[in-house]
Amino acid sequence: MRNEMHLQFSALSQNESFARVTVAAFVAQLDPTLDELTEIKTVVSEAVTNAIIHGYENDPSGVVYISVIIEGHTVHLTIRDHGKGIENVEEARQPLFTTKPELERSGMGFTIMENFMDEVNIYSRVNEGTTVELIKHLTKSKALCN
Ligand code: ATP
Ligand code: MG
Repeated sequence: MRNEMHLQFSALSQNESFARVTVAAFVAQLDPTLDELTEIKTVVSEAVTNAIIHGYENDPSGVVYISVIIEGHTVHLTIRDHGKGIENVEEARQPLFTTKPELERSGMGFTIMENFMDEVNIYSRVNEGTTVELIKHLTKSKALCN
């Protein structure tokens, strides 16, 4: 069976933990391992933080959108913003690449997402926004069958 949920909230840093905990609570119905749950929470944090600080440059009138779709053992996460977009996605994906070194960013967000998830797709247009699609197949989880 398929189950989905959608969330939208202001681009405020205090909503990062709200997003992380809410996604984890939804995914918990699949009975993930602790490691899997930690990985999912971490990637949500990374993508939401990126939307807030890079996409909207901390403008709280921006809105961050999250969709989570569960299908069998697979979790599809989408984190979307209508912020400033990424000029060069291939460059942005490189480990240690950051456009905000002055904020002590380490440029590891996308690398962490790639390590923790089975698939990472990034779609972005300058001045239109960014969509990050993250897919993870859970190993020992219960199939969603009721
Ligand atoms: P860290 O995540 O380690 O704190 P970082 O955010 O700079 O540092 P990544 O998360 O890997 O590193 O992102 C790399 C770069 O991609 C960012 O520096 C930024 O230029 C760009 N970027 C990422 N997400 C977005 C977004 N949602 N909107 C606009 N630019 C983004
Ligand atoms: Mg980041």
